[in-house]
Amino acid sequence: MSTETFVEPEPTPLALLLLGKGADPDSERGVECPGDLPAPSDPDLVARAHAAKEALGDKVFVLGHHYQRDEVIAFADVSGDSFKLARDAAARPDAPYIVFCGVHFMAESADILTNDDQAVLLPDLAAGCSMADMAAIAQVEDAWDVLVDAGVADLTVPVTYMNSTAAIKAFVGRHGGTVCTSSNAKRALEWAFEQGEKILFLPDEHLGRNTAVLQLGLTLEDCVVYNPHRPGGGLAPEELRAAKVILWQGHCSVHGRFTLEAVEEVRAKVPGINILVHPECRHEVVRTAEYVGSTEYIIKTIEAAEPGSAWAIGTELNLVRRLALAHPDKQIVFLEKNVCFCSTMNRIDLPHLVWTLENLVEGRVVNRIEVDSEVARWARVALDRMLALPGVQSAPARAQD
Ligand code: SF4
Repeated sequence: MSTETFVEPEPTPLALLLLGKGADPDSERGVECPGDLPAPSDPDLVARAHAAKEALGDKVFVLGHHYQRDEVIAFADVSGDSFKLARDAAARPDAPYIVFCGVHFMAESADILTNDDQAVLLPDLAAGCSMADMAAIAQVEDAWDVLVDAGVADLTVPVTYMNSTAAIKAFVGRHGGTVCTSSNAKRALEWAFEQGEKILFLPDEHLGRNTAVLQLGLTLEDCVVYNPHRPGGGLAPEELRAAKVILWQGHCSVHGRFTLEAVEEVRAKVPGINILVHPECRHEVVRTAEYVGSTEYIIKTIEAAEPGSAWAIGTELNLVRRLALAHPDKQIVFLEKNVCFCSTMNRIDLPHLVWTLENLVEGRVVNRIEVDSEVARWARVALDRMLALPGVQSAPARAQD
């Protein structure tokens, strides 16, 4: 008989709370909605959203991420990827209320890039991001200590993807690093290698690996994966010393699920089909795809595609569906039959949007996302380093900066 003692696993701190029930003050997942949240079955929801938006006029600016539901995008003043939306928010200093239909880290970036007298609201505080949640600031600080002990911290430049919390961006700012998006990751990594010998890439191992190997010409052996749940990241000091890129073990729960088998299957079914994927996908999928790029790149590629051409797209389903509807002259399919919507993006629905807008009409600011001023200051340093990279469009400066 085994002498090992069974240890009850600790409940994950990231467990999803039941919709509308309770709050977890230690995570992004508080979901309380003070007052009445309209029922999804309310037949007047669309009319109520129109009425509230009209009553607020120019006082409200609604941003909709490409992965949002159609019912939400219908009320967005602009749509785009996370970086474009943060820039769009910063370009509207006259709007006191920015309603961000996206996920928590995006609303944080908008708060950092907008003026202090503007309120950024996230209609459902449960709209986090599983990738951003995979790098907690305490874990990253512990990892840095591991690099210090291995004697490589001074040689290492941290780079974080936009899809990370403000605290991680601030950490990167304090340690001489930068933020990147999926469009400028190559330039960000080149810049980082001009500043140091190694890169700590957070929190998406796939974007980091795909950029380092497929765009910078490094080898897979140049990259190691740091597992925050294992002592020392699961790496020996010699491995850290030999690596050029230390990848944080994190991934997008949507893009990480597209598989090589799905690519082979769709190629067998539709000969000549083009595979178009986001660089958050796994390395083997990105390596085989004909086209790889950000959501904005995916949209532009489909817009420019020849009528009659066939495309299998590996990104979030809401965007792929809208592209297929907008381009009936092209054959557009979702790359993976088993992948569903991004569950956290989909937490924002019409009832939450109506609830947010109607509260604003009543003079109540709900679900405001406010980044601590010291965190915001250092995160802005990291964001400004990204904006200074050659070819990256700048964001308007905050009035106070
Ligand atoms: S699609 Fe992936 S990266 Fe984007 S919000 Fe959802 S989990 Fe996060």
